[in-house]
Amino acid sequence: MHDQALEKVQLESNLRQAIDRQEFIVHYQPIVSLSTGEIRGMEALVRWQHPEQGFISPSQFIPAAESSGLIVPLGAIVMRQACEQFRQWQQQHPSLDQLKVSVNLSVRQFAQPDLVERIQQMLADTDLQPENLQLEITESAIMESSESAASILERLRSQNIQLAIDDFGTGYSSLSYLTQFPVDTLKIDRAFVNQLGQDPKHVGIFQAIVTLANTLGMDIVAEGIETDRQLQQLRTFGCQLGQGYLFSKPVDSTTMAKLFTQPVWSHHWLTDNIKNDKGRVATLH
Ligand code: C2E
Ligand code: MG
Ligand code: MG
Repeated sequence: MHDQALEKVQLESNLRQAIDRQEFIVHYQPIVSLSTGEIRGMEALVRWQHPEQGFISPSQFIPAAESSGLIVPLGAIVMRQACEQFRQWQQQHPSLDQLKVSVNLSVRQFAQPDLVERIQQMLADTDLQPENLQLEITESAIMESSESAASILERLRSQNIQLAIDDFGTGYSSLSYLTQFPVDTLKIDRAFVNQLGQDPKHVGIFQAIVTLANTLGMDIVAEGIETDRQLQQLRTFGCQLGQGYLFSKPVDSTTMAKLFTQPVWSHHWLTDNIKNDKGRVATLH
């Protein structure tokens, strides 16, 4: 107990120092159309470049950042970096005007009384349109502050900021709240996507979620697509969007910029589609 407490204090102090020393950078993972293979957006994922320990994964420091409140300044750094970068890419590739950059928003950030104003200011500073920014909020963040959640989401939505529920299928997964909150996108957790090939029960549930989301006019993003089989299955369910190692791991901004012009999966995608669906390939050219 004592050791754990000590470790936590040490990690918090290291985090504070790392924020001052600007050791956090943002990586990007493409979000891809499952029917055409085109990039439709990207998720910004924070990375800690520790001078001695190298890259430290967010799962190792986000919980401490969250409990100490440091997630608020850290989250602001990530959001600013992602918006600035995305705006710069848009200026180089005007076709990116239609795309979205997704940023994860923690419970603590979500509870900030001036959240909406802060985001508006950040959009103004970076000259990014609100339609191009999507905030990812987990089910638990919404449920923890469900009374205020609806009004915060309404306010963000009224500014045309896009909203996604992250990690759907791992927590409460109440289908009824989907009708109560003004969200644009449902991101299905990778654990759920993983179970697709293994448990037939999940197929029915998955199909029901996709149908409901489509009825509500929401996009579905399947997270953690790793295999061709999962991709084919998701396409037959009518799931439009996905992200996962099958396409690309989260990559640094230089690598992401290369993916806009030549996605690494495009060759594989084309051959695969020629085999399965000649008509669709024709639309890619
Ligand atoms: P998330 O928002 O659900 O992000 C998706 C995670 O799944 C990322 O892990 C990504 O690298 C991983 N992933 C994507 N495709 C695959 C796949 O095909 N296979 C496998 N095994 N994993 C895949 P990452 O980057 O380690 O981030 C973990 C979590 O940390 C994120 O989950 C998010 O909850 C949190 N996080 C990351 N960056 C931020 C941030 O800037 N702010 C906040 N508040 N949380 C963040
Ligand atoms: Mg996310
Ligand atoms: Mg997720």
